[in-house]
Amino acid sequence: MPRLLKKPEIATLFERFAALEPHPVTELKAPNDFCLLVAVVLSAQATDVGVNKATPALFAVADTPQKMAALGAENIAEYIKTLNFFPTKAKNVAALSEQLVARFGGVIPEDPEALESLPGVGRKTARVWLNCARGWPVIAVDTHVFRVANRLGLCRTKNPDDTQAALEKAVPASFKVHAHHWLILHGRYVCKARQPECWRCPVVELCQYAKKAMEPPKPRKSRL
Ligand code: SF4
Repeated sequence: MPRLLKKPEIATLFERFAALEPHPVTELKAPNDFCLLVAVVLSAQATDVGVNKATPALFAVADTPQKMAALGAENIAEYIKTLNFFPTKAKNVAALSEQLVARFGGVIPEDPEALESLPGVGRKTARVWLNCARGWPVIAVDTHVFRVANRLGLCRTKNPDDTQAALEKAVPASFKVHAHHWLILHGRYVCKARQPECWRCPVVELCQYAKKAMEPPKPRKSRL
């Protein structure tokens, strides 16, 4: 079994990510913190690109909890019908907006438990929002973070909760605010699920993945 990275190696790894991208940010587009929360809820089982295509028209008519609650689930669904599970997501966005108004005076609570009590907001969504909107040094684990962290040797885990706990221990405090985005961006553009592009990976000599791909696939020969 591949070994786990040692502390100095983990520091080098994040120094490398930081040098390449000092200020990584979410690729979800949102005009304010409320819209960002909605965008994160919509991004479950969907790509950021897909969410960014659907949300500008929605946010143009509803960019506050009050306006979103007034719009209602049926109308919200019309704006987001290109996204997976849009009927459920529309209901959740309407309900979370209503609850933000009724329970929190229209202000998003900066508290993981209170956030997770809102419809459609799970542990990952709450942590992504706290990290992106408030700069909390928390790591949310999505499919990219899970895969990249295990390939690199930052952890050996089988589920997101264990991965989150392991990363919170392993990642040095000074890198915690940006670790989530560095790992996501690395997974999205380099350490891809089907074919990691190890031949152009900036941390290749640190990575413990056993099946590194050190050459790009050869172009297929044309039969003509
Ligand atoms: S060397 Fe390959 S498997 Fe390891 S992190 Fe880089 S792209 Fe991913």
